[in-house]
Amino acid sequence: MQADLERVLFDQATIVRRLDEIAAQISSDYRDRELTVIAILNGSLIFMADLLRRIPLPLRLDCLSVASYLGGLQTSGEVIFRQIALPDVAGRHILLLDDILDSGTTISAIREKLQTASPKSIRVCVLLRKLKERKQPADAHYIGFDIADEFVVGYGLDYCERYRNLPCIGVLKKELVAS
Ligand code: 5GP
Ligand code: MG
Repeated sequence: MQADLERVLFDQATIVRRLDEIAAQISSDYRDRELTVIAILNGSLIFMADLLRRIPLPLRLDCLSVASYLGGLQTSGEVIFRQIALPDVAGRHILLLDDILDSGTTISAIREKLQTASPKSIRVCVLLRKLKERKQPADAHYIGFDIADEFVVGYGLDYCERYRNLPCIGVLKKELVAS
């Protein structure tokens, strides 16, 4: 699988070193507040598992399943909620976890939806943030790494549902990406 990468951006050791730092920051920020983590499936699964085990606070974990990419390289621009019931957020401090902040459509749609259920607070944590202009006013409080505006896979991120289990994050070889 790693042979399919043109370039590795972050190896596993680099990722978990950064997770230690973010986890310490989150643990300090939420030391006096009960935290509810909502992981956005499927992309944040690996990130979530490694991050949460570094946060020694009592917390609740929920998941939210949305789709916006429809398998390829381009976001469809529309966010589809795959669950009928949303996690219980009323009166809670919510930390949304997602793999990557790209156009911001996903995060802003989820924020907007959860906001209607009266949480005490909502913050966003992403492993990656693409450096680009965003039409949606979405940003994150906790960011693993800023990257250039290119398509990446690994550590939870897929291309047509493949490469999620790659332990590093990298850019696919051009010839493997359908244009
Ligand atoms: P946004 O709504 O911010 O445009 O996109 C967010 C979602 O699109 C992410 O949760 C992720 O599933 C997908 N996505 C955006 N950029 C990339 C990328 O470079 N690689 C992969 N594999 N998925 C991406
Ligand atoms: Mg995806």
